Amino acid sequence: MKINVMTLFPEIFESYLGESMMKKAIENKILDVSLYNIRDFSENKHKKVDDYPFGGGAGMVMTPQPIYSTYKQILKENNLENIRVVYLSPKGKTFNQEMAKSLAKEDNLVFLCGHYEGIDQRVIDMIVTDEVSIGDYVLTGGELPALVMIDSISRLIPGVLNRTESYEDESFENDLLEYPQYTRPRNFEGLEVPEVILSGNHGKVAEWRLRQSEILTEKRRPDMWEVYSSRKLEEEKLKKRKKRKKKK
Ligand code: SAM
Repeated sequence: MKINVMTLFPEIFESYLGESMMKKAIENKILDVSLYNIRDFSENKHKKVDDYPFGGGAGMVMTPQPIYSTYKQILKENNLENIRVVYLSPKGKTFNQEMAKSLAKEDNLVFLCGHYEGIDQRVIDMIVTDEVSIGDYVLTGGELPALVMIDSISRLIPGVLNRTESYEDESFENDLLEYPQYTRPRNFEGLEVPEVILSGNHGKVAEWRLRQSEILTEKRRPDMWEVYSSRKLEEEKLKKRKKRKKKK
């Protein structure tokens, strides 16, 4: 996957992308990230990228020209006529695992990071395909939200996580939160690891983990619990119907 980032602060990305899973994915050529400094594309003689908002109001607004020129350069370098552009914005649709899965299927993506009071609406209307928020709070810029999205999307690309790190047991799969995890030592400050997960009985461990996931989801995420429990009910009904048919 090729990820192109449009930002006024490319240095913010370098440290995070140079560590851990992101570093490995880039080294293994599963992921390619190009950083574009929007300021480099400004046609203003002082490389200005912002201006006062028409109609008044606090702060500055990012001007459309440098952003549009950066976008055109990305299309040219990738030999594309159009591309999916994600604008990080508190006004966008809230990011979740389902969206990450859908974006992980793309070959080429652009992340547009806003700053100051945001971006001139005209360039958003011209180039943005997805406006995405990472939650109901306002940050200074789109760089952290872009990194959040790049991280969660990257780990869903086949080959980025190894087998033992598979995301299939993780939170949000099957509308459940993950079960509690334990490691050595067996006794920590008098607290024992639950006996069942030391039993070596894989069936019993899986049963316990599923139950813990269910308890946690019901308690913490009633929205997910509703989806999960109605699906489970449907599955049970289907099983019963099949059994009855077999008997006949
Ligand atoms: N004036 C804007 C508003 O009230 O919606 C907020 C602008 S914010 C200070 C500057 C930039 O940070 C935005 O253009 C966006 O790129 C980014 N940003 C801030 N909060 C965000 C969030 N929750 N999700 C995604 N991006 C965010």
